Formats: sequence, C-alpha cells, structure tokens
Amino acid sequence: MKKRSLREFKLALGNVDEATRKAVHAPKALTRLAWEDLDYLGWRDPGAQQRGYLFIERNERLHGVMVLNTKTQTSAGRAVMCAFCRMPRRFGQVVLFSSPTLTNPKGTSTQGTYICADLDCNVRVNGLRPMSPLDPPADELVGKHREQLADSAQRFIASVLELPAAS
Ligand SMILES: [Zn+2]
Repeated sequence: MKKRSLREFKLALGNVDEATRKAVHAPKALTRLAWEDLDYLGWRDPGAQQRGYLFIERNERLHGVMVLNTKTQTSAGRAVMCAFCRMPRRFGQVVLFSSPTLTNPKGTSTQGTYICADLDCNVRVNGLRPMSPLDPPADELVGKHREQLADSAQRFIASVLELPAAS
C-alpha cells in the first residue's frame, strides 16, 4: 500500500456516517508502518475497541470499511481460521466482525466474517517460514499467502461497498 494520512483514511470509509467518521482515532503506529508489506491495512479504534477499520487499494484508489466486533465468542479451546490470512488461531485471537453494508439505507444490513482480532494478518503472513522440507522457500511461501490475503481482503471490502469487479 501507499503511505497515507489519517485524513485520507477517514475520507475513504464508505459505510460510516459523518459523526462516526469524525470520531475515528488513528492507531499508534500509523506513521511508522511497513507500508510495502501491507496487502490491507486494519486497526481497532483505540478510542472505541468495538470498532475496527479495513482498507484496501483498488485501481490506485483507497477504499475502507468500518467493522464491528459483535462479541460473539467462539467456544473455548476451538481453533478458528481467519478468513483473510487463513491461519488457524486460538480462542479469542480470531473474532467475528460485522460490517454495515450499503444495500439497506438504514444500515441494518451487515456482512460478517471471522478475522484476526488485532487485524494484523500482514504481520503473521510476512513472518511465515517453511516448516518442513516439503514447503517452498520463505519468499515463495510468503508471496503465495500474500496473494491470497490480498484477494480475501479485496473481496470482503468490495462486497460490503458493492464495488465493481477489479479490472
Ligand atoms: Zn488473519
């Protein structure tokens, strides 16, 4: 992703009202992110933990959605797969986020998906290393997972915002 300011991120949110847009808080690390490693950018609002934001670039434009943690807990001990990075994680590390869609003018229609609770899939994917001699080398392994991660994040955000298919 390209480096952007908080203002640009706020303006890119496609499914929030103006009051919510004004209330978006930046994550602590916004000014020192490894932008080139990001296939999407996500953060939990430090001032309102139930809210999170996801951003992607599509045809060089920034698109973002607000997601809400509905607090539906998975049963303890069960491993859950993140829909974005496809890595299984322990109880509480993957949570259900829902996102108000545009279809319903009252905003009561939502789409939900299980994503890493800290919205930090990129860090995990970039840290992948071969676990066995059968695995491809690290750069290939990371590259393959990044493609999949970018694709999943794009699909989810495009579907919430009803964006046309990527060219
Ligand atoms: Zn993840």
